[in-house]
Amino acid sequence: MDFNDNKYDIRFVANYLRKSRAESMKDLEKHRMILTDLCHKYNFRFVEYLEVGTSDSIEMRPQMSKLLKEIEEGVYDAVCVVDYDRLSRGDMGDQDRIIKTFKKSETLIITPDKFYDLNDDVDDEMVEFKGFLARREYKMITKRLRQGKKIGARQGQWTNGIPPFPYVYQSYKDKFNKKGLVVNDERLLIYREMIEMALLGISPQKIAESFNKRGMLTPKGNYWSNTAIQRLITNEIHLGKIISNKTQGDGHKNKRPNAKEYRVLPKSEWVIVENCHEAVKTLEEHEKIIYIINQRQKVPVKCRKQTHSLTGLVKCAKCGHSHSLHTVDGCVYIKPCWYKDRLGNKCRNSGILSDTLEKIILNEISKYKNEFINSTCETDTQLYDRISSMIHDNEVLLAKYQKALDTVNDSYDLGDYGRDEWLKRKEKWNKAIDSVTTEIYELKKQLQATQQKNNEERLENLLYFFDNITAAADGKERNDLYKTIIECIFYQRDGDSINVNIIFR
Ligand SMILES: [Zn+2]
Repeated sequence: MDFNDNKYDIRFVANYLRKSRAESMKDLEKHRMILTDLCHKYNFRFVEYLEVGTSDSIEMRPQMSKLLKEIEEGVYDAVCVVDYDRLSRGDMGDQDRIIKTFKKSETLIITPDKFYDLNDDVDDEMVEFKGFLARREYKMITKRLRQGKKIGARQGQWTNGIPPFPYVYQSYKDKFNKKGLVVNDERLLIYREMIEMALLGISPQKIAESFNKRGMLTPKGNYWSNTAIQRLITNEIHLGKIISNKTQGDGHKNKRPNAKEYRVLPKSEWVIVENCHEAVKTLEEHEKIIYIINQRQKVPVKCRKQTHSLTGLVKCAKCGHSHSLHTVDGCVYIKPCWYKDRLGNKCRNSGILSDTLEKIILNEISKYKNEFINSTCETDTQLYDRISSMIHDNEVLLAKYQKALDTVNDSYDLGDYGRDEWLKRKEKWNKAIDSVTTEIYELKKQLQATQQKNNEERLENLLYFFDNITAAADGKERNDLYKTIIECIFYQRDGDSINVNIIFR
């Protein structure tokens, strides 16, 4: 029996799991394996419904209630169970309701060795595979036509734009997955290296650095970032799953008047469709990586704790220096700018409550996103010019520092001061030279990224940002998210007038 030739066209099923009173959780695990194997064998995409209680009545079986609703809407081609009686228990009223729902929606029941078609007039009982499926074929096609688009999205079809590395959409060489993802073999080698490194306990940051140093860049030719790596190695899509219904409502600023409030739904409401495409890591690998990453985040590294949403992002619009953050009575503040120029004049750009500034910034990002979606060609020249001129300024500074260091050495040679004084002065300029050199290196990296990053990827990052910014729990996560789309924020405050100018990546 081969379902892969599409002749029988059973594609999307629900696995319904519940234990009887005499059975243990171990039995349930066994049942789960049996149904998962069945789906893999016949190449069904599947969603799991796991009933924890043992009650017979539908009212007391929340998963069954949910499943029946979906069946009514015609979402599934079939429901898989280990025994027919997993579905049919309950009083006569319940049984009647279940049978009617399956009949009306033309949904099949599949067990590891039998198919049941409650609609089959010829044979109301169990039917052997072969003859049954042939009769089924025509009915399935008509059902498929009725299901339409909306249900398609819930059945694990890829609808999220650019597929995550190492996947590509629909086809690669001789591989083809209608409405789905396939693995690009060359990229797979790189992806597997990420996984192997992560399993060794190497951090996403170090993995990114390792690839960048070796010149193995992203498909778009950019440097890998630690967030990109972390996203890829922890993503469940790479297990062959597609997850939808994670959020509800509209994150847009200009939403329709009757739109629902934007919120992240609890995990119990997500629709997780499995076996949608080829997996590129195993569940064991995935769980181990999640464990390693959680362990690392649990370590209360001091600097981790001190990372707030806007750490390292806010620059003074008056003088260009960075604003630092501090916490007072549990509230995070952007400190005032106290930068002194060479004449000793303080800059005095005022501070602000971090939450207040963050709200303004989120608002600006939201506007930017809408403009971005509406505009077809965005120019990078502004950012490019700004970074180029910053590099130039730093190079001038570096030359000055080097000259100063030379002077210090010369003065020592001439006997202008003693050894201790010389060492002190030498150390000072060496430090300054180091810091400017690092700055130039970073800027050049950014410049390269600016040249190469295209709008498609920007939009992808923006959408990812809005999908996750509300869910992100701690400051560090939010900070990482901001850094995926923002280069820096120029901020100025004069009394109640607050101005921000966001430089997007
Ligand atoms: Zn300033």
